[in-house]
Order: sequence, then structure tokens, then C-alpha cells
Amino acid sequence: MPSDPKIEISATLLRKLHRIHRQRADLDGRIARGPRQITAGEAFVAKAEADMSSVKEALKKANLISDEKQLQLKSREVQIDQLQTKLNSAASNREFNLLKEQIAADKQANSVLSDEILEAMDEIDGLETKLKDVATEFENQKDAQQNRIAEVAAKTAELQSELARVNAELEQSEKQIPTEVMVEYRRVIKSKGEDALAPVEDESCGGCYQVLTTQYIDRLRLSVLIRCPNCNAFLYLPESTRV
Ligand SMILES: [Zn+2]
Repeated sequence: MPSDPKIEISATLLRKLHRIHRQRADLDGRIARGPRQITAGEAFVAKAEADMSSVKEALKKANLISDEKQLQLKSREVQIDQLQTKLNSAASNREFNLLKEQIAADKQANSVLSDEILEAMDEIDGLETKLKDVATEFENQKDAQQNRIAEVAAKTAELQSELARVNAELEQSEKQIPTEVMVEYRRVIKSKGEDALAPVEDESCGGCYQVLTTQYIDRLRLSVLIRCPNCNAFLYLPESTRV
């Protein structure tokens, strides 16, 4: 039965209950947003940390490569010196020419290596600059996250106290609900939340847009408890409606 002519309930009470349930839903939503903001912030911090680690890793690798090349350069320089000594005491023209060729080849190889070392050092410089930037970004993200956590905590406390106030108001208002409706009211509130109540808008249910017959509206004007035949919401006339 969508309505029971025996049960009367005032539009003022239903309006108030709906307003309070909407406030609660809004507050619940805003309270739930806090942890999501913190989680999103954690992802920013993790990303900044990963960026920093990858630059650190690249820098370590570039340093290793540069060190290796410098060692190679030095050992080849020693080798060239040794060849030079041998060259000075070469026993034959053939040996002399072979040593000369070898020295020229080693010098050529070292010249290429020197260029590569310069390139590697440029890369290291670039990575060191980049590391400073990503390290700063990481620090900034950590600071931002700390601020975010503090802000969310303050905001949540504020919202919780507002919610407590609204809940107290709800408890007071619910005392005015006729006892015979209470079980149904609790059941619908539990399953539909703020949508358990709906204003009549343009002769339709404001919750599901079901068109309501004139009989429904007439009974509502007499403060008869009416449920929407479609979505089961407790219907009420908005304040602007003439009674
Ligand atoms: Zn409806």
C-alpha cells in the first residue's frame, strides 16, 4: 500500500528529515574524501622518490662507465710508454716499424677514448643537475603530503563535529515520526539513504520522476503519509506549494 489514510505526518517534518539526511550524506562524502586525498598524495611522493632513484641509478652507472674508460686510458698510456722504450732500442727496421704502427694505433684508440670520457663527464654533469631537481621535487612532495595530512585531519575533525551536531538534530526530529511508521522509515533509510525521502516536483516524485495522480497530491495536502508508488520514497510537498 503506497498510502494509509490513517497515518498523518507533517510535510514540515518530512522536509526537515530530508534536509538532515542530505546533510549527513554530504558530510559522509566529504569525510570519505580525506583518506582518498591522502592516498593520492602518497602516490605523488612515491613517484617523486622513484624518479629520484632512477636518476641516482643512471648517475651511478655513468660514473662506473667513466671510471672504466679512464682506467683503460691510463693502462693504454702506460703501454704506449713501454712501446716507446722498446722503439728506442729496436733491433731492426721491421721491429721499429711494427712498434711505430702499434703506438700510432694505441694513440688513435686513446684519442677516441678521451672523447668518450669527455662525453661521459658531460652526461654526469647533466645527471647531477637533474638529481638536484628531482631531490628537491621529492622533498617538496614530502612536505606537501605532510601539510595535506594535517589539513585532512583538521578538516575531518571539523566535519565529524558537524556530523555529530546533525545526528543529534536527526535524533530529535525522528522522535516526531509516528510510531507505526518507524520500522518502515528505518528500513527505507537503511536501503536508500537520503533518497528515502523525496519532494513532489511538478506533480512527480522528485526522486524518480514518477508522475503522481491528483489523488496522491490531494492526500499529501491533507498530511497523509504517501509513499512513491515507484521508488517507495516518503513523499512531501515542498515549502513553496500552496496547501
Ligand atoms: Zn519515486
